[in-house]
This record gives sequence, structure tokens and C-alpha cells, in this order.
Amino acid sequence: MNKLEKYARLLVEVGLNVQKGQTVIIAAPVECAAFARMCASAAYAVGCREVIMDWGDDYLARQKYLHAADEVFDEVPEWRKNFYNGYARQGAGFLRISASDPENLKGVDPDRLRRASIASGAALSEYRNAVTNNGTPWCIASVPIPSWAKRVFPDAKTEQEAMEKLWEKIFAAVRVEDETDPVQLWHEHIKRLSYYRDKLTEYNFKYLHYTNSLGTDLMVELPENHFWAAGSEISKGGIEFVANMPTEEIFSAPKFDGVNGKIVASMPLVKDGNIIDNFYMILKDGKIVEVHAEKGEEILKNAISIDEGASYLGEVALVPYDSPIQNSKTLFYSTLFDENAACHFAFGEAYPMVKGSDEMTPEEQKAHGLNISKTHVDFMIGTADLNIVGITHDGEKIPVFVNGNFAF
Ligand code: ZN
Ligand code: ZN
Repeated sequence: MNKLEKYARLLVEVGLNVQKGQTVIIAAPVECAAFARMCASAAYAVGCREVIMDWGDDYLARQKYLHAADEVFDEVPEWRKNFYNGYARQGAGFLRISASDPENLKGVDPDRLRRASIASGAALSEYRNAVTNNGTPWCIASVPIPSWAKRVFPDAKTEQEAMEKLWEKIFAAVRVEDETDPVQLWHEHIKRLSYYRDKLTEYNFKYLHYTNSLGTDLMVELPENHFWAAGSEISKGGIEFVANMPTEEIFSAPKFDGVNGKIVASMPLVKDGNIIDNFYMILKDGKIVEVHAEKGEEILKNAISIDEGASYLGEVALVPYDSPIQNSKTLFYSTLFDENAACHFAFGEAYPMVKGSDEMTPEEQKAHGLNISKTHVDFMIGTADLNIVGITHDGEKIPVFVNGNFAF
């Protein structure tokens, strides 16, 4: 089996953990058709009921944002609603092969992007809820396309060289190697992540205090009865799946109105193809009250204002500085990889990380400290000198991160 086939098998057998008789939806860019077909074959090999494709196309997406009639960005057709909400209701497995030119939507009217994101958030809310609450198995992974590969490796002499380099980086990030069985390696990896997840949940910290030499000095309050997640999740139907490949993070949700201080980003944030770089935020009672970016400040300000919850944090994630992605010293211009390179936060929607919260209404979740929003955007803050001190409900201080890595 070559590395490509191993990777496809990994996504189907560990990522989605496709079951006999289950329907599988694969969303993929047309450029990745060859790999998407391998994934479909791997799904049929384990006895799936049917594979249904949802093809995407960067070129057509850009044409649409530039030239389509203006009202298009406020509506989502019925058939698309039925497609996603209907299959989510049936418990289908959703595999998203994500690959796009990071600058594809550069220069597009940000208001069209904002409105389209609001419209799709509302129309596909049943599907989105199924995904954020792990009602149905889902997995996101990436494969290279030329425009993205050239962006990551601008010095490569040919397109082919850039593609090969990006494939190598992706294989390393997802632990696909020539001599080993990635399925086995992933089971070990998930065990390691679970150790930290359980430790953090046991500590039941009231606060996490972040400091580093970039200037981050932030006090993050955690909700009562919060828990941490990492690696794999269990769907409502009892299927263990891995939602992100790669994944190195152990994450929870902050108490949305209990975050105070300054956060300085340690890596650029790519938002709808625009680069936001060298930025910091000031938070008061959870609200982002000030943002400054050397590059892309307007884009950032737009992103945190699409709704009320967009200016509050919805995720707190710990990633050891010594991780395969950080060690590869590559900026992928893709959140899926870059968020697994460093400790991060997200502004916007929180995952239901308070015990019992997957059964709560959004209003109840909010009352338990979880942020509600139609957006969710990760940004990296981890550095080699990041220290995090956990403060328990009794006021005891316990080192969580020392110099970028776990202290326990
Ligand atoms: Zn994350
Ligand atoms: Zn996130």
C-alpha cells in the first residue's frame, strides 16, 4: 500500500470510522478528485452503504463572489439545506477534504463573505449542530493543490516540486510513513492525548494564567463543570471518530465573560484568503474591546463583528510546542495544520464543553458560560516561552505549561 492509499484508509477507518451500512458524504475540491476517489473506495471496502460527493471549486467560488447577483449571498437553496441537514439527521459520516488557495478570496467584498456566512450558518444549522455536538461522525483533512503548495513553498522551482514538498509535510503531520501502520500510530497518539485531557479535566481549574515574552498576559476563567476534549470523540450513535486530522490539541471552552488581559498572536491568521499578521487583542470581561494588526486589521475587525458572540472567545486549546507540526517549521496557511502547531484560542462559537451541555438549548449553554456565535475562528498564541499556570478553586497554583510544553 502506498502512502496515498494509507492516508485514504486512515481517514476512513480512524477519521470517520465508517461503519457497515453507513452513508458517507465526501466534500472535496475538483482538483483533489483522484484522492477523493481513493477515500470513496476505502469507504466501500469497509462496507459503507453509499458514497455521495459534494464537489467544490475555488475558481467558481471566486467568480461567484465577484460576479453573482447581490441577493445570492443572503440565501441558501432548499436542496442544499435538505442535503446537509437530511444526511446529518440520518447519522451519515461527513468527510471534508479541504484544500484551497489561501488567497483565493482576496479582494472579494467582505460584506458578501459576511452575509454568505450568516446565511449558510442559519440554513445549515441542523447540520452544524450535529457536527459541533458530535451528533454524527465527521472528519476534516487536507491534500495539496498547486495554488496552496506554491503559497507554502514560494521558493520551489516548479509547481511539481512545491506539491511534493507539501505532500511530505502533510504525511509527516498525519503520521503516514512508509514502514509503519498509521492506524496503529494513531491509536497510540490518541491514548497520549487522552492522558492530558483526563488530567486537565481532573484538575478542574478555575483559571488559567498565560504569560510569555511577546506580551501575552491573560487570565482565562473556565466554566463550572467544564471538561477537556482531545483526539477522538464519540458520536451520538456510539461511533468513535477523529474530527480533525492532524490533531495535537487538548481543548475546552472559556467562560465567555470571564477572560481578561492581553493576547498577542504568535502566527499569522488566514481568514477567507486574507492574511492578518502581527496582531493583539485586549479583552475585558470576555469582550474583545481592542484589536490592532499590522496587516489585515479591517478584516479582523469585520470577523469579530459578524454577531455579538464573535467578539468573545469560544475555545481554549493547548498544544505542546514540541509537536510534529511546530517542528516542521512550516506555515501551512491552513487552520487545520497551523492550529495544531501552537496553543490557540478561537473567537466565536464554543463547543459544548460543560457537562450536559450538548442537551442544552443555546440560551442554557450561554447561562453556563459557553459562547454562542455563527462564527468560530482559531488564532495561534503559543510560543517556546509560553507559561501557563492553573489556579484551582482553592487558590492553589499548578504549572500547566513551562516553556511551551506540558509541565506534567
Ligand atoms: Zn482548536
Ligand atoms: Zn477551533
